[in-house]
Amino acid sequence: MIQKSDSTENEHTGNPDCVLRTSFRTHKGNGEPVRRLLDEYDLIDHSCKPFADDIYLYLPLVRYPEKEERLVLRDSLMPLISLLPHPKKKVEFHSWYLQCVSFQVQKKVPTVSEILGYSVAYEIIGDIAVIDEKISGDENLKVPVPSVPSVPSVPSVPSVPSVPSVPSVPSVPSFNVSDVADAILTAHSAIKTVLLSAGSISGEFRTRPLVFVKGEDKTATIHKEYGCRYHVDLARAYFTPRLSTERHRILGQIRDGDVVIDMFAGVGPYSILFAKFASPSCVIANDKNEDAVAMLRENIALNKVSNVTALNEDALFLSEKYPNAADHVIMNLPHNAFDFLDTAVAICKPGGVIHCYAMTSDDDLFDGSVELIRAAAEKKGRSIEVVEKRVVRSYAPHQSNICLDVRIL
Ligand code: SAM
Repeated sequence: MIQKSDSTENEHTGNPDCVLRTSFRTHKGNGEPVRRLLDEYDLIDHSCKPFADDIYLYLPLVRYPEKEERLVLRDSLMPLISLLPHPKKKVEFHSWYLQCVSFQVQKKVPTVSEILGYSVAYEIIGDIAVIDEKISGDENLKVPVPSVPSVPSVPSVPSVPSVPSVPSVPSVPSFNVSDVADAILTAHSAIKTVLLSAGSISGEFRTRPLVFVKGEDKTATIHKEYGCRYHVDLARAYFTPRLSTERHRILGQIRDGDVVIDMFAGVGPYSILFAKFASPSCVIANDKNEDAVAMLRENIALNKVSNVTALNEDALFLSEKYPNAADHVIMNLPHNAFDFLDTAVAICKPGGVIHCYAMTSDDDLFDGSVELIRAAAEKKGRSIEVVEKRVVRSYAPHQSNICLDVRIL
């Protein structure tokens, strides 16, 4: 399906800073979802930067995709291309796809792991990198290794435990935060600020203690995801880019005219995506954190969406305003979602779907949670139909972040 080259390897060009590498060429408008998809298949070469010309984005690949992968990619790319603006649309999808792999000579930028000689976990939100000292407090983050000892509160502490994320690079038992920050700033030219997450995501508003390490001293940024932009101040509100695939999955279920209630909306990454790329009649985006709702309001304006109503209320009381109103209820508060099931059922239309995130253990991934939703529905004389059960990501040893899509009849 993809034009095959003479060589399947990235080749050196004679200049040590340059490599001739295989790239996946995609129209700029489709860049982000295509990049995420290729990343899911571990095809993106993070040691080289994407390259853009006026029309196309060239995403560096670590290798030429196998035949099976090429078929899966073709099938997975089709909905992305039809969902997002693409000049050639479906009609010419095939010929577009045939030209996707090309070669570019580019400067090779070393990765953080290559600079340091060991790997560390960090998250990039807009132009801010957050070094994860202890990520087990975030219900939405994958924990690649068992929990690590406590974190220093100042970045100058010389040696702290590492959280390895790249299996091919040996991990070391400690790292210097300042060196890690320098490596991140060198490897990612767009990063302006490096922060240290000096503790778990916690509290009612799910924020985390952040320590400034290097660059511009700030905690606010603009994060771009799937064609949307989010202003987020990480010190004041929750945000993670690691749920972007999950948000996109639910986007595919929103039908024209649907009413969506996002009970725990944060700065709006579910609500705004739905409002922008589906055609719901309205999206009610609610969060108890006043600061998050202020950012949500900014993001509604930033993304020019008109069908989102921002609310700053305790989700427990949404049923008073919106009984039987929603075709989709988004419940992204994984540690406490079950405390809000009565409300979720009450605001869900007959036939509407609750998308409920939860933390569960390996010995009862789904069943116990399904029974809690069933019990909440039965209390109101309603029944349920499980639409989908999925593990979003592993959270801690033997614990997973799951999502249940359950229809309330
Ligand atoms: N959905 C957003 C996202 O994906 O970025 C935010 C998810 S975050 C895990 C959970 C959110 O629930 C936080 O923004 C927090 O402020 C909010 N929250 C916690 N308790 C709440 C309550 N009782 N009512 C409404 N919002 C609440």
